[in-house]
Amino acid sequence: MNAPSNSRRNFLKTVAGISVLTPFSTSFAEPLHDSHKTIKKAKNLIFLVVDGMGRGTLSLANNFSNRQFNAPLNWVQLMNHKHVYSSLQDTASFDSYVTDSAAAASAWGCGVRVQNGRINVDAEGRSIKPIFSRAKSKGKAVGLVTTTSITHATPAGFAANAESRYDQETIAQQYLEREIDLLLGGGAQYFKDDNKALLKRFEDKGYSVVQVLDDLIFNKNRSKLLGLFADGHLPYAIDRKNAQQYFSVPSLNEMFVVALENLQTSKNGFVLQVESGRVDHAGHVNDTGAIIEEQLEFDRCITTAIDFANQSPETLVIITTDHGCGGCQLNGIGHRYLDSNKGMDQILKQKASLEYIGKQFLKLGHPDKELFQSLMGVSLRDKDLKTIQSMLNNEYIREEYGFVARDPHGDTSDVDDRKTAKSKSYFLGNLAEYFQEAQFKLTGVSWTSHQHTSELVDLMAYGPHANALPSFMKNYELNTFMCDALNI
Ligand SMILES: [Zn+2]
Repeated sequence: MNAPSNSRRNFLKTVAGISVLTPFSTSFAEPLHDSHKTIKKAKNLIFLVVDGMGRGTLSLANNFSNRQFNAPLNWVQLMNHKHVYSSLQDTASFDSYVTDSAAAASAWGCGVRVQNGRINVDAEGRSIKPIFSRAKSKGKAVGLVTTTSITHATPAGFAANAESRYDQETIAQQYLEREIDLLLGGGAQYFKDDNKALLKRFEDKGYSVVQVLDDLIFNKNRSKLLGLFADGHLPYAIDRKNAQQYFSVPSLNEMFVVALENLQTSKNGFVLQVESGRVDHAGHVNDTGAIIEEQLEFDRCITTAIDFANQSPETLVIITTDHGCGGCQLNGIGHRYLDSNKGMDQILKQKASLEYIGKQFLKLGHPDKELFQSLMGVSLRDKDLKTIQSMLNNEYIREEYGFVARDPHGDTSDVDDRKTAKSKSYFLGNLAEYFQEAQFKLTGVSWTSHQHTSELVDLMAYGPHANALPSFMKNYELNTFMCDALNI
C-alpha cells in the first residue's frame, strides 16, 4: 500500500483548465449558466451514469462525505442549483419491474424497452438503431468510458445490437465496424481473438491502442483511441487507490479528462457516455467500503463535467443511474442512533475491497488474520478463521439465506460450481455474506439482497434543453429527450 505514482501526479498537474485533483470542488456553486434560454440545441452530450446506484447508496456516500470531508457530494450540491433540472426515473425493462443493465441502457440507447439481457434488440428480435449511430450520421464523434469491460452492457447500450449482452466479442467487432471514436475501459480479453486479429484491425483503421495510464496520456490527442486497461473489469477504486500493482490503471476521472480533450476537437460536437460501472458490482457483493469509494470516484467526474459545460455552453450534461442494486442503507444503531455516525469512521478503516482480500486468501489457501485486520479494521476470531477456511475448502454453503454462488454479470463458467471446483465467485460471495452481520453491528449498513432493485432513481440535466426535462419519466423517454436536445 503506497502513495500514487509519479506519472499519475504529473498527469494531474498537466491537465490544464480542468480540475481533477480536488475531490469536492465547489467550482460550480455560482458560475453555472442558464444556457437553455439562449442555446436551443446541444452540440455536445456528456452522459454520466453510475451503474446500480439506489438512493440508499447515494445517501450513504453523502453521509460518509459529510463525516470525512465536511462537505456533501457534488451530486447533492448540484441538485440544489437553480439551473439544474431533476427528474425521477422509472427503470423497468420490457417484461420485468426490475431491469438489468442491458435493458436499461437499451431503453436509453434506442428508446424501446427490451427484455433483460438484450442490447437494442426488441421482443420481436428486431435490432433498433442506437443513439451513437444517429449521432455519427450527423457527423458527431462518439465515445465510451467505463470502469467495467468496454463491451459490458451499459456502454454497449449506446453503440451496439446483440441478442445477448454476453456476446462481448461481437460487441467489440461492432465498435470497430461502427467506428466508435474513443473507447476507454477494461475487457482486453474480448479483443484477443485469433492472434489478436481484432486489435490489429483497430490499428489498421487508425486507432491508437493503449494499455497503461502513461500511454493514455501520451496518446490523448490521437484521432481514434482504444484504451484497454484490464483483461476484465478495472480493479475497484478502493484497490486502485491503495494497492501498488494497480497504480498504472487510470481512474474514471483521468479517462474522462482524456476523452474530453480528445472529443472536443470534433467540429460537429460529440456524444460521450462515462460509466462508473462497479458501484453495481459492490452492490451485488454487498461491499460497503468498495461501494463508497466507487461513488466518490464518480462524484469527481461531476466537477469535470460541469466545469467543461461552463466553458462550453453548447454542452448538455445528464447525470443518472440505471437501477438500484443490493438495497444498501445506513440504519439507525445505538443510543439515539449515534453509533450510525461512528459507523462512517469504521468504514474509513476499510482499505481494500472484499474482492481483493478474498483473492489474497485464495492465493494463500488460508485466511490471514493480520492482513484482514490491516485492510478491514476488523479482528478475526478463531471461529471466523475456521469458517473462512471451510469456504476455501468449498465446504461452506449458507443455504438459509438463499445464497447462490454465481456472478450475475457473466463468467458463467463457474456458475453453481461450488461443490466441485474452487469457484472464485462462490468464495467471494460467501465471504461478503458472512461478514454482513458484523458489518451491520459496526457500521449500521445493511442490504436487502444481492440483486437489482426496482426503486425510482434520480436524474439531473444541465445545459441546452435541460429545462425540457419532465419531473418524472420512464427510462425509454430519455432517448427522445437526448435526441431532441442534439437534433439527431
Ligand atoms: Zn448489476
